[in-house]
Amino acid sequence: MIDFKALAQKYGTPLYVYDFDYMTAQYEELKSAFRGRKSIIAYAVKANSNLSVVKHFAKMGSGADCVSIGEVRRAFLAGIPAYKIIFSGVGKSDDEIREAIERDILYINVESEAELGRVELIAKELGKAARISIRVNPNIDPKTHPYISTGLHDNKFGVDLGTAKRMYIKANNSENLDPVGIHFHIGSQLTELEPIREAAVIVADLVRSLEALDIELKFFDVGGGLGIKYKDEETIKPYDYAQAILSTLTGLDMTILCEPGRFLTANAGYFVTKVLYEKQNGEKRFVVVDGAMNDLLRPSLYNAYHEIEALTQTQEETRPVDIVGPVCESGDFFAKDYPLPPLNHNDLLVIKSAGAYGFGMGSNYNTRGRAAEVAIENGKDRLIRKRESFDDLIALEQEFLED
Ligand SMILES: *Cc1c(COP(=O)(O)O)cnc(C)c1O
Repeated sequence: MIDFKALAQKYGTPLYVYDFDYMTAQYEELKSAFRGRKSIIAYAVKANSNLSVVKHFAKMGSGADCVSIGEVRRAFLAGIPAYKIIFSGVGKSDDEIREAIERDILYINVESEAELGRVELIAKELGKAARISIRVNPNIDPKTHPYISTGLHDNKFGVDLGTAKRMYIKANNSENLDPVGIHFHIGSQLTELEPIREAAVIVADLVRSLEALDIELKFFDVGGGLGIKYKDEETIKPYDYAQAILSTLTGLDMTILCEPGRFLTANAGYFVTKVLYEKQNGEKRFVVVDGAMNDLLRPSLYNAYHEIEALTQTQEETRPVDIVGPVCESGDFFAKDYPLPPLNHNDLLVIKSAGAYGFGMGSNYNTRGRAAEVAIENGKDRLIRKRESFDDLIALEQEFLED
């Protein structure tokens, strides 16, 4: 049991709290599901990019899946070795590609023919052969929220099978490209196994047809996307997930790469916010809290559900309430018509499943400093990011003030 009241007193609110031991358990469960094959779990840094979080995974032997050079630098800073770092994303700049090649990471996940051309050119300038993998878009409906679906031709990610094959042939014939992997990532918050299995079948078949052309790939990168329980979702068991993927790889001697983000951190995280006011607009009940959409955007962005627990003395019955923040947007809410008892000034609300795509999607909108972040490990708490001060917020502007 985490003592949120004590943490709120010690560190203030709004506050992010992460249970590192939960992250460990999730990592170990997934890693052991793939035993029997060589595998690298490459933590998707964007889910929660706090350096102490990334370091926590580094210490367990995790790699990193990065979607910007900033994330690659974070992975290095946190102690993840170059040979476990991969770089994905549809729009890598020349500078990002150059640095990734110079740093000799495991591979760059290439997402278009045009990008393959840039990678080849930059590797040539550097006198190197860039290790690459190609992101295949298997045109599978992952049956998740459209904003986090990525494996359909309607989505911007990856290339179709025919294009992928052409790109592998080109890469294999280039002195400056070294094709080592194949990648797919069909979406996030996946709760059905069948789309994942279908995608793996399609991609494994492509691997076999490449082998027939003497193009041998080492890494079968299945992306991330394992769903978690926010409310009452039936989730996929890591063991079943691993089995479904491994069953498509018969006859192929490849190392599995898996890029979970949400699965590792979401349910390890809590967003703690303090009640400022209750108010009633006609029939409508609101509770206004000190956290806002600039801290935790998912409800505003995806209408995402987060379980909310009220830490209050009141014993009265719950009534539906909209939980809203101070930001000047009607979209600034954490929940609508959520059943909560009457609340008093300074009561705490604990918003659950906030460890992934929480802090990282935050902003300084309305000149609000971002929340502090705290880790809990072995029953001890420690600060892992300071609360942003007003001075932090204006630091890059102040010098331009003219008098
Ligand atoms: C976002 C992302 C992930 C992680 O997704 P989760 O749903 O958090 O597991 C993995 N791989 C790629 C390429 C991504 O873009």
